[in-house]
Amino acid sequence: MKKAFYYYFLASVVLSMAACKPEKEDPPPTPEPLRGDNLLLGNPSNAVADINLPDNYLLIKDIFTLSYNNTKGTANWVSWHLHPAWKGSTPRQNNFNADNDLPTGFKKVVTTDYTNTGFDRGHICPSEDRDSTVAENSTTFLMTNMIPQSPNNNRGTWASIEDYGRTLMGRGNELYIVAGPMGEGGESSSLGILNTIASGKIVVPAYTWKVMLIIPQGEKDLDRISSSTRVIAVKVPNRQNVTQNDWGTYRVSVDQLEAELGYDFLSKLPAALQQTLEANPDTGSTN
Ligand code: MN
Ligand code: MN
Repeated sequence: MKKAFYYYFLASVVLSMAACKPEKEDPPPTPEPLRGDNLLLGNPSNAVADINLPDNYLLIKDIFTLSYNNTKGTANWVSWHLHPAWKGSTPRQNNFNADNDLPTGFKKVVTTDYTNTGFDRGHICPSEDRDSTVAENSTTFLMTNMIPQSPNNNRGTWASIEDYGRTLMGRGNELYIVAGPMGEGGESSSLGILNTIASGKIVVPAYTWKVMLIIPQGEKDLDRISSSTRVIAVKVPNRQNVTQNDWGTYRVSVDQLEAELGYDFLSKLPAALQQTLEANPDTGSTN
């Protein structure tokens, strides 16, 4: 009898403990992924993945989003998010490759199309913005991310703009960046001004342009953009006489780029906010 009572007592204690167990608390909210949407601020040319529109063909990759122009043999633009979450210590892969994500029948640029042209295979999204893994860094070397760039532009002014973006990231910011080619006719290091290379396969741009929006690292990025958010837009001649460390002189307004390119940047922002952010060239520090 005593033993049965003991078991009854034990069972009731266990049951009452179970009954008193506090209800499961709500899990903490899942933090937003630090790797923000590469196309967060909008699709500048309303590119779509439609093979019947080969000159504004949307190509979405893990590390960036681009619009391909089959006539030009280059992207119209590449859009990406820069944040330490994309960064690592993978060395430059230098494995330039044709982009096999392009649909069958599209013009596929290969690395030898640039051989002996006097133009660099200039990254639009820089290798150094995507060095987390070998696979991710390799994607920056796809030829859809390349433009024929005057070597002094690519290695001088353009590189200093790219460096400045990463400098701002290192100071606690994240950036939304769109960049690409404009116009026709750039300067080769050996052959003068050329409109195209590879027997017309690839259009040489007259300018390279970029729009960078900078906000402190955080969550809900769209909601944190205000009239005081820094936006830097540049338009750099694709010429050999552009020199290092003078990138600030190439600043233009976003409105100017929109007018010249026919694109709409920052289109996910309210119209009034776009108007404010796009009207004037940046005047902030360049270092
Ligand atoms: Mn470059
Ligand atoms: Mn706009």
